[in-house]
Amino acid sequence: MLRVSNTFMGGKCVKLHEYQSKRLFAAHGVPIPGGDVAATPEEARRIAEELGGPVVVKSQVLVGGRGKAGGIRLAQTPEEAEDVAEEILGLEIKGLPVRKVLVDQAADIRQEIYLGVVVDRANRRPVMMASSEGGVEIEEVARTNPDAIKKVTVDPFLGLRGYQTLSLAKGIGLAAEHHRAFGGIAQGLYEAFLAYDASLAEINPLIVTAGGELLAVDGKMVVDDNGLFRHSDLAQMRDVDEETAAEREARQAGLSYVQLDGEIGCMVNGAGLAMATMDIIKHFGGGPANFLDIGGGAKAERVAAALRLILADPNVEAVLFNIFGGITRCDEVARGILTAFEEVKPTVPLVARLVGTNEEEGRAILEDSDYHLITAKTLAGAAQKAVAAARGELGA
Ligand code: GDP
Ligand code: MN
Repeated sequence: MLRVSNTFMGGKCVKLHEYQSKRLFAAHGVPIPGGDVAATPEEARRIAEELGGPVVVKSQVLVGGRGKAGGIRLAQTPEEAEDVAEEILGLEIKGLPVRKVLVDQAADIRQEIYLGVVVDRANRRPVMMASSEGGVEIEEVARTNPDAIKKVTVDPFLGLRGYQTLSLAKGIGLAAEHHRAFGGIAQGLYEAFLAYDASLAEINPLIVTAGGELLAVDGKMVVDDNGLFRHSDLAQMRDVDEETAAEREARQAGLSYVQLDGEIGCMVNGAGLAMATMDIIKHFGGGPANFLDIGGGAKAERVAAALRLILADPNVEAVLFNIFGGITRCDEVARGILTAFEEVKPTVPLVARLVGTNEEEGRAILEDSDYHLITAKTLAGAAQKAVAAARGELGA
């Protein structure tokens, strides 16, 4: 459900892989181990040869707990790195196939720290958090030992201040000799967070090595979709393997689409209207099968793509079109619906409520078609009819 609420806030998010996040952090001065990413065992061996010495081979999948799943292994020699990479590249971790591994110089870890920045929506400010319990998921620490998490709120106009990073360093009991390095890393992390319109930037763990250096050995960054147009480099990093086929088609068609588990497929223009439609379906005892916003001024092709997505969902027992014509013209939407019917024959009842610009033309187009559409004048009426139709209580 988190993904749904992210969508409702106006966009989805892009999660970056560890190696991508760490490179962005490094560009802002955060020290990371030497290393590179490999798609084959041979590449992994070559990287290990170049690095020299022991390496850590790490699966690059967008889920946590990779270590426990066998997705993080140490290797003493390049040959061992090749073998280990072969095993990891054959793994599936929480349903995601491992397509790449990161081969990093192994670190001699003395201490593991957590350091992260998130947007605190209630405060409308970024919050930086640090904990002496690094390497453990922060949600886990928040549950078991909340006092171990120290926080500072960042004033967006003043930025992260030196006294704030110092208070974090002291708060987590970091030895004084590391305070300076810690402050620099915290600033770098905050800069990367700002520069990429991130909603989260996290180093877990930030380690203290045997040599007394601080090093980011894991990185995670989540970027707001709505900021992507400002970062063409990030748009390319988006891992399409981690999207469902339906989500990919939706994104390519310029639609906001989230699959849900109800039985009424919804096609709506405008995110607010989509939410209202879902609420009213629930109010009348039904369940929305999806959140789908075709956006303003939608053309016939986009409507057709949206309908294809809805009808491809086997859970859909009825479809509700709720179109409020402003910039979007109802006749254009009606034509799009008919275009889609030529490709995908609807096998479920369809309820349409089209109001606003060119609504008569739109309704006429639908009524003249060979397909029987149940029409409704009000949203409440349309929702009730859709719920009844999904239960087979209304003929199609
Ligand atoms: P995650 O489990 O998916 O978050 O992956 P991490 O990159 O955070 O690695 C998990 C744990 O593996 C870390 O907390 C470390 O304890 C260990 N680890 C990661 N890299 C190294 C390394 O270079 N050397 C050693 N000795 N341990 C490592
Ligand atoms: Mn980690």
